[in-house]
Amino acid sequence: MTKVPFLRKHLSPDALYWRMYRLFQDVPNQRGERTTALADALMSGFALFALKDPSLLAFDQRRKQDDHNFQFVFHIGGVPCDTQMREILDPIDPEQLRPVFRDIFAQLAQGKVLEEMLFLDDFYLLALDGTEYFSSSEVHCQQCLFKKRHTGEIVYHHSLLGAVLVCPQRREVIPLMPEPILRQDGQTKNDCERNALARWLTKFRQDHPHLRVIATLDALYANAPVIGDLSKALVPWIIRVKEDDHAFLFAQARQRAQAGQVEDFSLVGSDGVHRHFRLARDLPLNESHPEVRVDFLEEDEMQGDGKYRTALIVDPVLRLCRERAETVMWGGRSRWKVENETFNTLKNQGYHLEHNYGHGHQNLSVVLAMLMMLAFLVDQTSQLCCALFTAAWEKCGSKRALWEGVREIFHRFSVDSMAEIYAALLYGHEKPAIQLLGNTS
Ligand SMILES: [Zn+2]
Repeated sequence: MTKVPFLRKHLSPDALYWRMYRLFQDVPNQRGERTTALADALMSGFALFALKDPSLLAFDQRRKQDDHNFQFVFHIGGVPCDTQMREILDPIDPEQLRPVFRDIFAQLAQGKVLEEMLFLDDFYLLALDGTEYFSSSEVHCQQCLFKKRHTGEIVYHHSLLGAVLVCPQRREVIPLMPEPILRQDGQTKNDCERNALARWLTKFRQDHPHLRVIATLDALYANAPVIGDLSKALVPWIIRVKEDDHAFLFAQARQRAQAGQVEDFSLVGSDGVHRHFRLARDLPLNESHPEVRVDFLEEDEMQGDGKYRTALIVDPVLRLCRERAETVMWGGRSRWKVENETFNTLKNQGYHLEHNYGHGHQNLSVVLAMLMMLAFLVDQTSQLCCALFTAAWEKCGSKRALWEGVREIFHRFSVDSMAEIYAALLYGHEKPAIQLLGNTS
């Protein structure tokens, strides 16, 4: 007898789809009204990314054929046509989707999923970075950032600050609600990543007042204003630094080494790699902000024929010491997970983050990016908690093949749940217990 994989039920994609639809019912339109048409449009946008259709047109083509499945799997009473969907979603304030991110995060916490991602005592590691996901010299909206080429041509673009909980030992990430990097209301100047981070931190603390996180960030963020914003939000930090940008800091570290005030030690890491560390405490970040004190961790690693050197500044509250050096190093390296495991996945693994599904005049582009991030959040949750999902993924051999398989079954058969689709991928369509019915339309 085939063993049915264990499924953590309240975190299964089906349970989360239902929750999400219920939460979309609370999203008001511009007039403050809550309508079924709006909830259906939001859920349809979400379904577009859950199914990973390459375009709104492709999604629109399956609209009538797969009517039963949209109703039973995604709870959508009536899928709007592509034009209607754009018109309904364009005026929605993306902030109205915040409760959905917050609710799913609470479900993950309740399901003890986050506990498996603890880092350095009882913190979670939070990787943050920005990415551009839309660029055009023609299509634009009220909030587009813009830059002028030397030819005089104006290029419009959108970026967002992504924020994901990561764990050095795991490839799954838990996305929190991103912050759009856009021209703000009434502003004529472009927004920037630093301002977006400050806004993100304020909203993060409102959403999660007591969540203990450590931010891991790239060298772009190694400056006093960012450290000030992080400290104000009670978020300790591990930030990459480069000698070119922080000559004063590196010179101070060298002086300390000459004075014999640096801890210098070698370790064989948990991955079997031999590394050399230099650790100095309580250094000034730079000449202009000597009041900002940092701990400094420099690491040398032999790679091939060469030596690879990297350096981090670490919040003194994290009590950097010899015993913590390797963990902190992995925490610093995990900043890549927002780029590699999040943005690259969204751009190249079937989600089509850079594809223009529709830009709108107000918020459409941002609302669609948020719905895509929610689809990614559910998929990452499934990867962590739903053994049926992971078994189907393993059987298909790749995420791309899994998404294709899901789309094919969704299109060819009447199904009532994602569990049924994953089971069909795993056991075959003919298994009587799965009760797949041929589509007679
Ligand atoms: Zn725009």
